Amino acid sequence: MDTVTVSNSNVLDYLNDPSPRTLGRSPLEWLERLQKPTVIRVAGRDRSRTRAMATLLHGNEPSGLFALHRWLLEQHTPEVNMLFLLGGVYPAKIPPTLSVRQLAEGRDLNRCFKAPFVGIEGAIAEALLAELRKARPECLLDVHNTSGTGPAFAVSITNDAAHQALTSLYTDRLIATDLRLGALMEYSEQEVPTVTIECGGSQDDQAHELAYDGLVRYASRPDVLSLENAEWDIDVLRNPIRVEIALEATIEYRLKPSGQADLTFPPDIEHRNFGVVSTEEPLGWIGEKGLEILTAIGHNRAENMEQILQVKGGQIYPAQAIRAFMITTNPVIAKSDCLFYAVKATGEPIF
Ligand SMILES: [Zn+2]
Repeated sequence: MDTVTVSNSNVLDYLNDPSPRTLGRSPLEWLERLQKPTVIRVAGRDRSRTRAMATLLHGNEPSGLFALHRWLLEQHTPEVNMLFLLGGVYPAKIPPTLSVRQLAEGRDLNRCFKAPFVGIEGAIAEALLAELRKARPECLLDVHNTSGTGPAFAVSITNDAAHQALTSLYTDRLIATDLRLGALMEYSEQEVPTVTIECGGSQDDQAHELAYDGLVRYASRPDVLSLENAEWDIDVLRNPIRVEIALEATIEYRLKPSGQADLTFPPDIEHRNFGVVSTEEPLGWIGEKGLEILTAIGHNRAENMEQILQVKGGQIYPAQAIRAFMITTNPVIAKSDCLFYAVKATGEPIF
């Protein structure tokens, strides 16, 4: 027997089959009207099944919000019931809107989907998980943007047919990781196939288009969990290592090093995203401190930099053929998050 749940009503707002009047003319107008993290339910042709999609867990990653607003305005009837979770409404509303990832004193919402559910973000995560448990969706997507520009990819903790089929709604690249951080995609552990979709850069029209096209496919197909219906083969990259730069080190993006920085990358380094880089291809230049300023972190421990990069004549080369991704030319992100991720050219883990 169902019990009436009122406990989430303080944390979340609810919209059922919202009309165009409720939604406003633009996603920004809609965002202005939203007061809390919001659950949106849309009834489908088959009312016995539900698919879920979370987005805006990070307030500065708008592709999913734009896609959802457009899709809702068009008043589609989805194949099955749809449950949408808009997480980071608070940071997204901070002016200038859609520019802040998380509240200044807050936590990263996509690290909060595990106990203890402390603080505002913990309460939101817990309430969203309760909605998922109630709705019992057959699958879940979490739609994000990457920090730099670059091609779309998916991330999951499981690499099976269902996760690959969900990936194929948006992209042909799946990063499978054993890392557990409290991210929403760990809902896979509840036997609900769950995939994070990184649509590409938050400023890219292409990313917004992809988020919309993917949502249309997700909501309109009778079956989104079988690989027979996949549009393309999925390229799986397993357990990438994270390359980080020391906090006190300096990085610059120039065609030639100025001699002032510990690390220099060419300004077009983002073009390396997902491509194979051989041991003969220089990635950039290293200063006098050498590779000491870099660390490589595998899915549960720090590892030896020498397996990834080597220095020849002041230039950095891969120590073995690698594929790197999430390379950014934003020095703030490069320093606060990471320089890039890498796997072997074959897609296998380096460690
Ligand atoms: Zn994100």
